[in-house]
Amino acid sequence: MDFDVESVRAQFPALQQEVNGRPLIYLDSAATTQKPKAVIDAITHYYQCDNANVHRAAHALSSRATSAFEASRQLVADFLGSPDPAQVIWVRGVTEAVNLVAYSWGRSNLNAGDRVLVSTLEHHSDIVPWQLVCAERGAEVVAIPVSDEGVIDQAAYDELLDERVKMVAVNHVSNALGTVNPVKEMVAKAKAAGALCMVDGAQAVAHWPLDVIDLGCDFYAFSGHKLFGPTGVGALWGRRKLLEAMPPFFGGGEMIDRVSFDGTTFNTIPFKFEAGTPHIAGVIGLGAAVKWVQSLDRDAAAAHEAQLLAHCDELAQEIPGLRRLGPDTNRIGVFSFLLEGTHPEDLGTLLDQQGIAIRTGHHCAQPLMSRFDIPGSARASFSLYNTMADVEALFTGLRKVQELFA
Ligand code: PLP
Repeated sequence: MDFDVESVRAQFPALQQEVNGRPLIYLDSAATTQKPKAVIDAITHYYQCDNANVHRAAHALSSRATSAFEASRQLVADFLGSPDPAQVIWVRGVTEAVNLVAYSWGRSNLNAGDRVLVSTLEHHSDIVPWQLVCAERGAEVVAIPVSDEGVIDQAAYDELLDERVKMVAVNHVSNALGTVNPVKEMVAKAKAAGALCMVDGAQAVAHWPLDVIDLGCDFYAFSGHKLFGPTGVGALWGRRKLLEAMPPFFGGGEMIDRVSFDGTTFNTIPFKFEAGTPHIAGVIGLGAAVKWVQSLDRDAAAAHEAQLLAHCDELAQEIPGLRRLGPDTNRIGVFSFLLEGTHPEDLGTLLDQQGIAIRTGHHCAQPLMSRFDIPGSARASFSLYNTMADVEALFTGLRKVQELFA
């Protein structure tokens, strides 16, 4: 079945605008996706009709808000393939999810001499929290190297996996290069070595259906804003036994069973990890985003995205001095590159003047940039609402920039 990109695009109000007198070409979806009207309407509806705090009051608005809030949890649980919605914890995004696991699990399980393996492809949010907790516990963060193509070196990974490794943290897809990592195999190896495995799904969730049980991981995290949902909300999925054994991360209202000055007992999961008033509108918006994405033919959407990237790679060959980063295959959503004679920052500004939004810089992946001995790159990133015309506009734009510098 063909993917009807025009009818999908029409549902995104922000894509209908002009920027600098040109129709917007939005190629920064790896940073954040645009939001369909269904998500915007769900958030507006909550604030206009149901606005109340959740889980606390007996009145109608609170009951409606709580129902919508918990319905979103079920939607996300189904989306991830979780057998139980209680295993889905609301967080602000992947950054908070990694901090939650690093501190809650790490403080009680990491000891002097232990190791956390992270790939060189990781976003800073999947490196720094591990560094902080390892420094506190006398443990060590060790990087799994990547090849010149930007692929995790599996032989090196095998060698690093010894009894000192207690956790492997790896992203499903690299935000800087688009590399799709063989996480299922990596999880299996980690488990065989007696380690846990946490997968950062920030760049994967918008591209294909997921099944955390099939992946076999212990924790999986994603951010709502990269899945057509609002900013400031995301989900951490974890294995029940692990979550139940982990101490709370934040203390406050909602996460308790009983509080007294003689000692406090805690709520069951997921509430043990959800102190304070949550981002209710965000959670409801995220539920709407999940519903929206699941209403699509996801195989057709993935095929459409693969065609966009293939077209991009094809056109790139016609641009002299363009160096593409990342692997030829097993890559999704991201076209990361350098253009000879042009600084990525200038490139970003000059493309913006033509209405084309890309991202430039280190993409919060400085260790990876160091690996390639570059300060940063230009990155065009695609989502299911992009068209072949968007890809062509990017290359027309790049040619114009080259003419300026000729
Ligand atoms: N991991 C990856 C691969 C990302 O691309 C990002 C954001 O760009 C993050 C983690 C952090 O996500 P957030 O800022 O939503 O917490």
